[in-house]
Amino acid sequence: MFKFDNTYTRLPEKFFARVAPAGASNPELIKWNPDLARVLGAHPESISQKELAEIFSGQRLLPGSEPIALAYAGHQFGHFVPQLGDGRALLLGEVLDPAGKRHDIQLKGSGRTPFSRGGDGKAPLGPVIREYLVSEGMYHLGLPTTRALAAVSTGELVHRDRIFPGAVLARVASSHIRVGTFEYFAARNDHENLKILAEYSIKRHFPEIEKEPESMLQLFQRVGQAQVELVTGWMAKGFIHGVMNTDNMSIAGETIDYGPCAFMDHFQWHKVFSSIDQSGRYSYANQARITLWNLSRLGDCLLPFIDDGSRNAALMLNRELDYFETRFDEKLMQKMRRKLGILDEHPEDRQLIRNWLQHLETEKLDYTLSFRLLADMLKEEPAPDLFKETPAFHDFYQSWQRRIQSQGLEKKQIREHMDRVNPVYIPRNHKIEQTVNAGLEGDLSLFHEMNEVLARPYEEREGYSSYKLPPEPEETVRATFCGT
Ligand code: AMP
Ligand code: MG
Repeated sequence: MFKFDNTYTRLPEKFFARVAPAGASNPELIKWNPDLARVLGAHPESISQKELAEIFSGQRLLPGSEPIALAYAGHQFGHFVPQLGDGRALLLGEVLDPAGKRHDIQLKGSGRTPFSRGGDGKAPLGPVIREYLVSEGMYHLGLPTTRALAAVSTGELVHRDRIFPGAVLARVASSHIRVGTFEYFAARNDHENLKILAEYSIKRHFPEIEKEPESMLQLFQRVGQAQVELVTGWMAKGFIHGVMNTDNMSIAGETIDYGPCAFMDHFQWHKVFSSIDQSGRYSYANQARITLWNLSRLGDCLLPFIDDGSRNAALMLNRELDYFETRFDEKLMQKMRRKLGILDEHPEDRQLIRNWLQHLETEKLDYTLSFRLLADMLKEEPAPDLFKETPAFHDFYQSWQRRIQSQGLEKKQIREHMDRVNPVYIPRNHKIEQTVNAGLEGDLSLFHEMNEVLARPYEEREGYSSYKLPPEPEETVRATFCGT
């Protein structure tokens, strides 16, 4: 089905452990993603549901697949853990797509590995449904992410706070190299393997810098740029990752690990979803600072290789970090401007954006819906009273009108620009919760429907209004648990 072309398994043995998947007693296909399979060069028509269930539960190994669990470390909530690694995941192998791009195919929930510590290596159905929905939703919103290739139920039971049906998610990523992979070797003072990892990462993700004199500094720059692009993208769409530990930070700049993440309903600068994030370390607004903090950890690892490890190296890295900070601010401003229909730049835009967000926060308005409603006010005959006429809103609205009109575009054009970046449908947490609960009762129809809705997030469609609206008070999900 896939032509594997594995390179990670050719790295020194400290990078991974070879492990066979546990398999499943009674695998059944829940959902799969033939479009993504085609991107990977497969011809999905020829494969039966039964075979797919066997393949993506790990029961049947495809030719060329060499399953391994990857070693990595990581800072979790600021505390360093020298050994984490794939405790409930396996890399089946790498596939080169017809365009020559390399992808990892990984199973998550496929059983214990040498990195499992006390864990069972399994995944309950709920988190598998959740990751499938949110990662695919993220992809269709246009944000870099790992993707869901298949979800399979295993026929086994998984014990958490209660007993759940077991499942496996097959996911696809540009790679599974994390900041924590660098930290794994750095913590062991293993400069030889650290260098091998850095060179491998350059070859795999940034081949254009391979021959550059300061390629390690450039690696740092590239990873930083990718992260800035990613996290500003999250913030523009109202996404809170929830667990931005360095082991959950892919150097390819893709969203990885859909644990306690969520899209905000009403806007709050310091919104936190994760029940274990007591201090708000990974709150919405703090994601900017944490990106830089995580990049500093990567910088620590690369220090010995920059400017031949001279004293100057730290200075050079700090300069880059300052630059990332500026870039973060600029990129976020640029994305927020576009959400408001502003295509050029003016120093006063910052205050305009701030006033708008302040209004959303004060009035507890839905982040996603409000941008669409604001664009609706540019219609020939806007619906009256879309927003409460507070003095703050009135002031904002007047300046916003003046600002967008200064661009010399027609209202219709501005509205179209806004609707292209402001989604109607996001994977709302209460809808995910309802979908998961139905799934646990054996009803997957909501899961299929929600995937369908999220596949075209910018286009309003008949019959899906419940996906568009924020939760009623009794539907609100206050925290997402890490119970994965
Ligand atoms: P996460 O919080 O999902 O980023 O995972 C952090 C670490 O815990 C990783 O090393 C995981 O592989 C490991 N882990 C999480 N859940 C399990 C589990 N059920 N069994 C084994 N290892 C796990
Ligand atoms: Mg993780």
